[in-house]
Amino acid sequence: MPPVNPQILGKLEHSQNVLETPPSGHPTPAKLPSRNPTRSFWIDSSPDVNPLAGQGSQDPLPSEADICIIGAGFTGVGVAYHLIELLNNASLSIKHSLSIVILEARDFCSGATGRNGEHLTPAAFTRFAQRRASFDTVEAIKSYELEQHTTSLLVKIIEENGWASDVDLVEGGHISLLFTEKEAKNAHNDFDMARQAQLNLDGVEWLSKEELEKEYGVPYPGFRRPGYNVWPLKLVTKLYQHAQAHARQYASLSLHTRTPVTAVTHETTSTYTVVTNRGSISCSRIVHATNGYASHLLPFLTSPDGIIPARGQVMTTRASVGTDQIKISSWSGNKGFAYWFPRPVTRDTEKPLIIIGGGQEAAAPSRELYVDDDSETHPLVGKALREFLPSIFEGKYDPHSEPEMEWTGITGYTKTGDPFVRPSNSCNYCWLMYPSPGWCRSRLTRSESR
Ligand SMILES: Cc1cc2nc3c(=O)[nH]c(=O)nc-3n(C[C@H](O)[C@H](O)[C@H](O)COP(=O)(O)OP(=O)(O)OC[C@H]3O[C@@H](n4cnc5c(N)ncnc54)[C@H](O)[C@@H]3O)c2cc1C
Repeated sequence: MPPVNPQILGKLEHSQNVLETPPSGHPTPAKLPSRNPTRSFWIDSSPDVNPLAGQGSQDPLPSEADICIIGAGFTGVGVAYHLIELLNNASLSIKHSLSIVILEARDFCSGATGRNGEHLTPAAFTRFAQRRASFDTVEAIKSYELEQHTTSLLVKIIEENGWASDVDLVEGGHISLLFTEKEAKNAHNDFDMARQAQLNLDGVEWLSKEELEKEYGVPYPGFRRPGYNVWPLKLVTKLYQHAQAHARQYASLSLHTRTPVTAVTHETTSTYTVVTNRGSISCSRIVHATNGYASHLLPFLTSPDGIIPARGQVMTTRASVGTDQIKISSWSGNKGFAYWFPRPVTRDTEKPLIIIGGGQEAAAPSRELYVDDDSETHPLVGKALREFLPSIFEGKYDPHSEPEMEWTGITGYTKTGDPFVRPSNSCNYCWLMYPSPGWCRSRLTRSESR
């Protein structure tokens, strides 16, 4: 089959308008996470993969805690992990051990972290011109450095603890394909601007159409940047287990899954009550790590100026040929709106399983923005994803084969694309999106400096 133009996706400028325009004109707060989410490869492909799935769901809730973290994804568990590391490493004179409780509406790590595309790839320089125009050069550089810092820190944690094979860490770099001359021109422009601004571009390599055709059988130019792939649920499980085992005398950590928080009320200047379907906890500090669902408990974050829920879709599909013909690398195309990764296999002739996600643009006009329900997939997004790989890798994917699994997940966007991390006025309350305390530090510094 001759390659067809895969330009079905990737219309960022149109997405921006939709992002700022709620479908009904009146956005409503997000609902609680759906009770019957679609089944994802990361969570549901084997019965043993989520040992913490129902952890603490039957245990009585404590009546009090120092810190309540709402949400057991990368962000919530990352906060607990770093807090405990901090307590262990700092010479603090703490009068009593800090009690940290994580509350999760569904199974452990069943939000976006358990349903994503598994790419651990910092942006490197992509969209530099846009970020510089939106902020300024210094802030644009900070945002790239933060992504690099987050990636390096996670990889360091994985390697120092000897978890690489447990969490399926693959270091293979990430190739972005450039389908049109305009895309190629913009990418070179971003790169040149970033280089002038002295951003670290180590490991970025331009690849000609001929090189990519020869090596991978795909007739488009592109560039490679440093990047990894990882099984997100397995990594977050390790982070939780490590944090709990290292809590020692300074802290205690517990997890209560299948415990949706339905309200947070402010009792005194220093006490909040976290209300759940199984009882209430009185807390002095609260971390909202609820991603696209944030506005359920914090209605003032109802979009478009707050946190906009958006549904992403991913599927697993089997290649028609072995890894002798499909080399392992992680990929994206159409400005990052389709991303895929052939999972490594043990034999050259074995046909790799491809995780492919993206394609929201096919769901016009909403583009899956303002959607907070991951119990369904979108048929048009599914169609776009099914057609994508057969259209660009001639003969390597069967256009008629059906995915082995297909699922959705909800993530939260802001209209500027900025992460959203803020304390409340009293500083007892933190809203977090994006999986790194590094983001938190940066955003606090940034907003405080204004
Ligand atoms: C389809 C898809 C593909 C993606 N692909 C990638 C990728 O390849 N690479 C990448 O870096 N990022 C990717 N992302 C983004 C990435 O997954 C998220 O940025 C990251 O997982 C966010 O982690 P989190 O902990 O903030 O949110 P989540 O993992 O969503 O965790 C939030 C948790 O809060 C819980 N919760 C919500 N409300 C309540 C409540 N009221 N009470 C109790 N619990 C509650 C939810 O159930 C959920 O478990 C993708 C996202 C999606 C949806």
